[in-house]
Amino acid sequence: MNPFSQLGLRHDIVNALTEIGFEKPTQIQEQAIPVLLSGSSDFVGLAQTGTGKTAAFGLPLLELLDFSENSPQALILCPTRELCLQIANDLKNFSRNINDVNIVAVYGGASISDQLRQIRRGVQIVVATPGRMLDIIGRKAIDFSGVRYVVLDEADEMLNMGFQEDINDILSTTPDEKKTWLFSATMPAEVRRIAKNYMTDPHELTVGTKNTGNSNIEHHYYVVRPRDKFAAFKRIVDINPDIFGIVFCRTKIETQEIAEALIKDGYNADALHGDLSQQQRDKVMKRYRDRSLQLLIATDVAARGIDVNDVTHVINFSLPDEIENYTHRSGRTARAGKKGISIALVTPKEAGKIRHIERVIGKEFIKSTIPTGIEVCEKQLFSIIDKVKSVEVNEEQINQFLPKIEEAFQDFSKEDVIKHLASLEFNRFLNYYNGAQDLNSNESEGRGRDRDRSDRGDRGSRGDRYGREGGAQAGFSRIFVNLGSVDNFDRGSMLGFICDNAQISGKVVGKIDIKGVFSFFEVESDMAEKVFNNFKDVDFKGRQVRLEPAGDREGGSGDRGGRSREGRRGGRERASEHQGGFRDFSGKRRERRSEKKRW
Ligand code: ADP
Ligand code: MG
Repeated sequence: MNPFSQLGLRHDIVNALTEIGFEKPTQIQEQAIPVLLSGSSDFVGLAQTGTGKTAAFGLPLLELLDFSENSPQALILCPTRELCLQIANDLKNFSRNINDVNIVAVYGGASISDQLRQIRRGVQIVVATPGRMLDIIGRKAIDFSGVRYVVLDEADEMLNMGFQEDINDILSTTPDEKKTWLFSATMPAEVRRIAKNYMTDPHELTVGTKNTGNSNIEHHYYVVRPRDKFAAFKRIVDINPDIFGIVFCRTKIETQEIAEALIKDGYNADALHGDLSQQQRDKVMKRYRDRSLQLLIATDVAARGIDVNDVTHVINFSLPDEIENYTHRSGRTARAGKKGISIALVTPKEAGKIRHIERVIGKEFIKSTIPTGIEVCEKQLFSIIDKVKSVEVNEEQINQFLPKIEEAFQDFSKEDVIKHLASLEFNRFLNYYNGAQDLNSNESEGRGRDRDRSDRGDRGSRGDRYGREGGAQAGFSRIFVNLGSVDNFDRGSMLGFICDNAQISGKVVGKIDIKGVFSFFEVESDMAEKVFNNFKDVDFKGRQVRLEPAGDREGGSGDRGGRSREGRRGGRERASEHQGGFRDFSGKRRERRSEKKRW
């Protein structure tokens, strides 16, 4: 008997699962489905990403709803557009052999009229992000009085994004006797509070992390511009003086080049790839195993199955073409119960792939910042000090030389000796990192060119200007929006509104400053372009929502879009003159906007 049938699922659904390649339930599915199928209690399910939660709630829903009735019976709330589409799509797949199932995905950043049309045609399952859902409820375009089940998917992330209020409002339009199922990867206090407020005596289920890859591996990623990659990579190596690592490249050529560049810069590294003879490869591997080599630079094929203990770091200098290879790579560390770190260097363009990898490995990455020159130097200095302190002293042997040594140091104070000793090894780092730049990319795509210009121009004065205006924190872009307290926004609802429409996580949003008829908010700079793009056609109660880079508005009147096109152009030109470099996307956007108006 098919294991899904054993859980109590009907033939049509089990068939569909077989067709899409689900052979047996995951752990959370196995444990949650029988409970949810009873339809009799509220439910809290805790399990990491990638453990199959969608089917865990989706399959019971399909089993419990009445598809001969064409009205909203289930509402699934989730944090992002991406997830919303994913869930709707999964549900459509699961229900492919059932007649008359209508599922609608409702999310920000897309035409609301299409979504309204679909709802009017009739729907039983609504999958929605909170902001857009509330908008639709506000238009009285949907009736939730017949809703029997509400699912809060990725509840922790929804709270992170500031959707608490929206969720309250949405749930208040659903009947009291509905059942609420909450799914989350973590159970912070806020989620616990939700569970308490919205649920009666929920059945709680936590699924361990058994089949989600090696829990001894920590995954980190760094966002750097392509041309800074090598320098950033060296900093990561330098801040880990005891690194014993494998560095993965995509091609043989890249592997060879990186190895050669490292050797030239004084690192203990060598290459391993398919263009080497078997003998050469054996030699490299022997040196690595013996620890005469600190960094092994390798291609996927050459490093497949390498089983060396105590590898401290796996570094993805380039991401693998196939995501599965990421797991093979990171599996070279944290062997035999040890801990290890897997690092990915990604360009701003590639940053989205991290989320994808997270889903596959069922684990979250830690976003890290490339250390500054000073941080590296400090680390190296202490490593040298540690070495000096822990070196084994052979009293007998050294004694005979001591008088001569003391004589040589006669004119040196203790402080002098310390300084000289440390400098001996340390000067290399001091020299290299003297005046070192910040290598973290805070850029959105397409800003590189202007950044170059502003590097040459007067960046100091730009900082001052922004500083006075209460400018963005480092790494963040400050954005103006023509909505404020008169539109009934507070910081929480503004955060929700931004995240929902821009399709970003609340984690990348910085300070929010609500004014009367407008507001400012900060986003991590590499998200800025996404925010602008996704806000292109957003309206609020029939009014076009307008965003602008906040620096752009300096000297502006802070009005609500009343300035003429000419006036704005003038403003921009003035700004460019003063600042040398201006963000590319603002200019592009402006042109696009004025084009739109003209035509
Ligand atoms: P979560 O919501 O826990 O992050 P998803 O429901 O998105 O996880 O599932 C993660 C991936 O695993 C998806 O690609 C999904 O199709 C797949 N999956 C889920 N359940 C099964 C199963 N029983 N057999 C095979 N693949 C599954
Ligand atoms: Mg999920």
